[in-house]
Amino acid sequence: MNNNIYHPLLNEKHQKLRSQIREFTKQEIKPIAQKLDEHSEFSSEITRKMGKLGLFGITIPEEYGGQKLDTLSYLIAVEELARVDSSQAATIAAHNSLGLAPIHNYGSKEQKEKLLPKLTTGDHLWAFGLTEPNAGSDAKAVETKAQLHGDHWILNGKKVFITNSASELSIGITVLVDTSDNPNEKEFSAILLEKDVANYHTESIKNKMVWRAADTGRVFFNNSKAPKENLLGERGKGLKIMLETLDSGRLSIAAIGLGLAQGALDMAREHALRRKQFGKSLSKFQAIADKLVDMDVKLELARNYLYNSCWLKDNGLPFTKQAAISKLYTSEIAKEIADESVQIFGAYGLFKDNDIERFYRDQRILRIGEGTSEILKMVIGKEMGI
Ligand SMILES: Cc1cc2nc3c(=O)[nH]c(=O)nc-3n(C[C@H](O)[C@H](O)[C@H](O)COP(=O)(O)OP(=O)(O)OC[C@H]3O[C@@H](n4cnc5c(N)ncnc54)[C@H](O)[C@@H]3O)c2cc1C
Repeated sequence: MNNNIYHPLLNEKHQKLRSQIREFTKQEIKPIAQKLDEHSEFSSEITRKMGKLGLFGITIPEEYGGQKLDTLSYLIAVEELARVDSSQAATIAAHNSLGLAPIHNYGSKEQKEKLLPKLTTGDHLWAFGLTEPNAGSDAKAVETKAQLHGDHWILNGKKVFITNSASELSIGITVLVDTSDNPNEKEFSAILLEKDVANYHTESIKNKMVWRAADTGRVFFNNSKAPKENLLGERGKGLKIMLETLDSGRLSIAAIGLGLAQGALDMAREHALRRKQFGKSLSKFQAIADKLVDMDVKLELARNYLYNSCWLKDNGLPFTKQAAISKLYTSEIAKEIADESVQIFGAYGLFKDNDIERFYRDQRILRIGEGTSEILKMVIGKEMGI
C-alpha cells in the first residue's frame, strides 16, 4: 500500500516532517505506549525527546526558541503522534495550543521574553485553566477569584481536569479568574501563574479512561500570588482570550482524532489481510472490505476538511466555524473507526495487549474536551446566524 498522504496544501517540507515524526513514533513511542497506559504514567523522558525534535513551539517565532512553521506542520506532527499514542499527542497539543499560544498571542513583550524561551524546549510545560467543578461548558460560571492587593493578585479557587498542570515538568498555568471588585457582577481576566512563585498546589488525576499517559491535574489556589504585571492581555478580556484560544485548540483535537482514526484503520487493515477464516483473509469478505473502505472515505474527508481549515487560519481568515466542524466531524469518525476496527479484530480487539483497545478508549475524550459536541453545534449554529 502507498502510505503517502497527498493534499494540495502539502509541500516537501510537510512530507519530510511527517516522515521524521513517523520514524520517531516508531522508534521511541510505540515500544512503550502500552506500558505507560497500563501504569497511568506520564513520561518526562519522552516529553523531553519530543522537545529535542522541535515539537514545543513549532509555530512560535525562532527568537523565542520556536520553529516558526505553519499550522499545518503543527497538525501533521500531532496527527502522526496520535497515530501511535494519543497521550503524547495530547501533551503536545495542550502545550502548544493552550499553553504557548495565548502567551504568544496576547502576552506583553516582557511576558513573552520571560516565558516563551523556557517553554519551547520540552523541559517545561505550561497549562490552561478554564474548567472548574461548577464551570465546564459554561465558562462564565468560573468562580476562582483574583483580587488586586497592592502589587499582587491574590487568587482563591480551584481548577479541575487540567492537562499538563501536575507533572514534574509543569511550571505554570494561565487561569481564567473573576477579577470583579463588585460581588454582584463578574469580570473575567486571564492571569499567568508561575508555580514556584505563586504557591499553588496541584494533584495528579490517575484513574482516567483516556489519555492515561498524559498528565491531568487538579489545581488549588489558596491565597496564591501573582505579580500585578502577570495579567494576560487586558483586564476584563479574559473570556475572549480563553475562547479564542479554544478555537485554535479545536484544530489540534481534530488532528488527534484524525491520527487516532488512521492508526486504528491501519491496524484493522493489517489484521484483515492476515487473519484467515473460512479459508481466506477477512479482507476478502465484502462485509469487511466495505468497513475498511468506509473508514478510508471518512478519513479522506476529515483530513481534507482539517487541512483546509488550517489554511484559513494561516491566511488570517475566520476559522471558528471550520474548527468546530472539524473537531465535531473528526471526533465522530474517530469513534466509528475505532469501533469498527475492534469489530474486525473480533475477540483479539478486547484485550489490553492489543493497541486497538487503547485507541477505542482514547477516542472517547474527543467529543468532550475543548468543547463538547453539543456545544460545538451551538458554536456552528451561531456562525450560521440561528
Ligand atoms: C483528559 C481531560 C483533559 C482536559 N484538559 C483540560 C484543560 O487542559 N483545561 C481545561 O480548562 N479543561 C480541560 N478539560 C475539561 C474539559 O474541557 C471539560 O470536561 C469540557 O469542557 C466539558 O465540561 P464538563 O466535563 O464539565 O461537562 P458539562 O459542561 O457538565 O456537560 C455535561 C453534558 O451536558 C452537555 N451540555 C452542557 N451544557 C449544554 C447546553 N447548553 N446545551 C446542550 N448540552 C449541554 C454537554 O455537552 C455534556 O454532554 C479536560 C478534560 C479531560 C477529561
